[in-house]
Amino acid sequence: MAKLIVVSNRLPVSVTKRAGEVQFHRSPGGLATGLASVFESHEGFWVGWPGMASERLTDEDKSEISSKLMVERYHPIFLGRKEVENYYEGFSNKTIWPLFHYFPRRAIYENRFWQTYKQVNERFCDEVIKVTEAGDHIWVQDYHLMLLPQLIRQKLPKAEIGWFLHIPFPSSELFRLLPWRGELLNGLLGADLIGFHTHDYVRHFLSSVCRIMGFEHTLGRLNIDERIVKVDAFPLGIDYKRYSEAPEQEAIQQEVKKIRQKVGDRKIIISVDRLDYTKGIIERLEAFDLFLSQNRQYRGKVTLIMVAVPSRTRVEDYEALRNKLEQLVGRINGELGMLGWIPVWYLYRSLPFERLTALYHAADVALVTPLRDGMNLIAKEFIAAKTDGRGVLILSEMTGAASELGEAVIVNSNNKAEIVAAIKTALEMPEKEQVERNRAMQSRLSRYDVSRWGKDFLSALVELRHLQQELSVRKLTGDIRQKLISDFDRGKRRLLILDYDGTLVGFTDKAEEAGPDKEVLGLLGELCGDANNEVVIISGRDKTTLGKWLGEVDATLIAEHGGWIKRKGKDWKCVVELREDWKETIRPILELYADRTPRSAVEEKDFSLVWHCRRADPELAYLRAQELKGALMNLIANLDVGVFEGSKILEVRHVGINKGRAAKLWLEKENWDFILAAGDDYTDEEMFAVMPEEAYSIKVGSSMSKSRYNVETVDEVRQLLKELAGV
Ligand code: UDP
Repeated sequence: MAKLIVVSNRLPVSVTKRAGEVQFHRSPGGLATGLASVFESHEGFWVGWPGMASERLTDEDKSEISSKLMVERYHPIFLGRKEVENYYEGFSNKTIWPLFHYFPRRAIYENRFWQTYKQVNERFCDEVIKVTEAGDHIWVQDYHLMLLPQLIRQKLPKAEIGWFLHIPFPSSELFRLLPWRGELLNGLLGADLIGFHTHDYVRHFLSSVCRIMGFEHTLGRLNIDERIVKVDAFPLGIDYKRYSEAPEQEAIQQEVKKIRQKVGDRKIIISVDRLDYTKGIIERLEAFDLFLSQNRQYRGKVTLIMVAVPSRTRVEDYEALRNKLEQLVGRINGELGMLGWIPVWYLYRSLPFERLTALYHAADVALVTPLRDGMNLIAKEFIAAKTDGRGVLILSEMTGAASELGEAVIVNSNNKAEIVAAIKTALEMPEKEQVERNRAMQSRLSRYDVSRWGKDFLSALVELRHLQQELSVRKLTGDIRQKLISDFDRGKRRLLILDYDGTLVGFTDKAEEAGPDKEVLGLLGELCGDANNEVVIISGRDKTTLGKWLGEVDATLIAEHGGWIKRKGKDWKCVVELREDWKETIRPILELYADRTPRSAVEEKDFSLVWHCRRADPELAYLRAQELKGALMNLIANLDVGVFEGSKILEVRHVGINKGRAAKLWLEKENWDFILAAGDDYTDEEMFAVMPEEAYSIKVGSSMSKSRYNVETVDEVRQLLKELAGV
């Protein structure tokens, strides 16, 4: 049975050493609990660092740790102090973390961090290889291991690899600031499935891949090195049941009572985060201060319970943040506090599940205002713990959670006035409205919980594998290719229908102007020279260009997708009535879009008008193509034309003309004993659709198609034709 190999920077268990004794502690936190449920339901291993520098461990300690962890199927990687300093505290937390959270000025670009990051990713790779067998699912977690997917791919080319990012993926404008941006993207593209929390992060990633690596996607799919890489959003959920059932427990009810006794009948606002500058804790506290000074009636009536969980205490920025926060709490309490009322109750510690859930349950308002946050589980846990439906969530729109929790009071975390207004709204919101909002969020969170998240990701990974396999079965290689060649050799009457651009000749600006090269002309000459062959070149190009380029070849030429036909040695003939009245309506709008989109152009043919955007900025071109399509759809309603979207073109053409219709004329002409049809884009699909079952129909490119087979490149087509022609 296939195993699941989870790989993350930290194992769900941490190791410490006190008085010579090795001790084990279960790590709290979202990732560990989130993944645990998925991990438990599979066989396999969890590979990661147990959280202690290896210099402090003897060889005996290490083997004790390894054997104890192995019982739980954890496979430890021991990292030295320098590695932790440069790879974890350095590159991960001083370079990637600030940049990905939109703090570019805090990001440090240090070559020594990068070198160690590479080395540690390689070490992870070695360990993963040790425990992986054919067919296993490898699931790599987070920003610490961005090079790992490609490193594994190099050693295990057939491995099934997923990668998920637990923090935001920034806009490509920020990502491109990284000196090692290309290497990191290349590292990630070794995966089969790349997952993010939200669709926005997916967009940012795909746009970085396009701008930095030049790979364009179709519906989140990239074709790289004959592999499909899928990019999609999988919002991390929580263990909903655990949080929603907890308030029924006696221990938690006691805890809630204790909190209530201490706070009295004051309203409780909670603020819970790891102490991190991305969480906007200082800004939140300043907003609370402003709220109390603008709404004096609430003084003495509301308490902010602020939990700051110690985090990355060895990184200087975090220490400075703690000092600043504690000074601010001190000032607010000193200036505004009264006998019997402390405005801010500050706790610098991590609370265990029971106390945290009690706090969620007891609170009237949760103030969750990070400046940036990949997801934010606190917001989700708070909603889940609101069993009676009362309570208000104030949520920053800069969190991933905001895209699922639209019924919360959404604020811009940089806008203090908005936070102040939101606190007032929350404290005064009628109970009925609170319940309505929370019930809607609860039903969503209960459906898409953490185990569903894990299952969804893994089944997407497996599905992708099936698709890859299906495509590889369709590849024209080995025995199938050999059979094609021997069928050709045996055939007495052979029909070859070949598309031109993207099939016989690759797409380059040069090819657009210069026409076919000598090799392809020679090849077509050879094929046409054999009296048993009928060669038909079928193209969307206009007849003048096709005639100029291929007029000397003794083949049938079909231009404008079948609008014009030139039989061997004859003149061009129009096969359908040529009507051009519709062009007056369509041309101005295509020209308008050509003017609005730099480096795009309009081409006029007899049967069609085409807007070309191959040379335009890819993202702008995509956007404009969608707009243009919408605009054209309204215009063509009463005309005899259709709008066709191809690779980097939008074409308006007579509805009765297509390559399928044209190909049929040749298919029906004789009783062929060998048929080959090759093409690369959507217009060729119409041709593939009319091919008889025994025909060899070949699509150039790795996407699914109505063709029987796929080849990757124009060179492969040429190589095949060379063998058929015997050159
Ligand atoms: N948490 C905890 N004790 C605390 C505060 C937080 O166990 O005192 C847990 C909380 O339940 C949540 C996680 O820490 O699951 C924080 O996740 P979140 O996504 O909100 O923030 P992150 O720390 O991952 O940036």
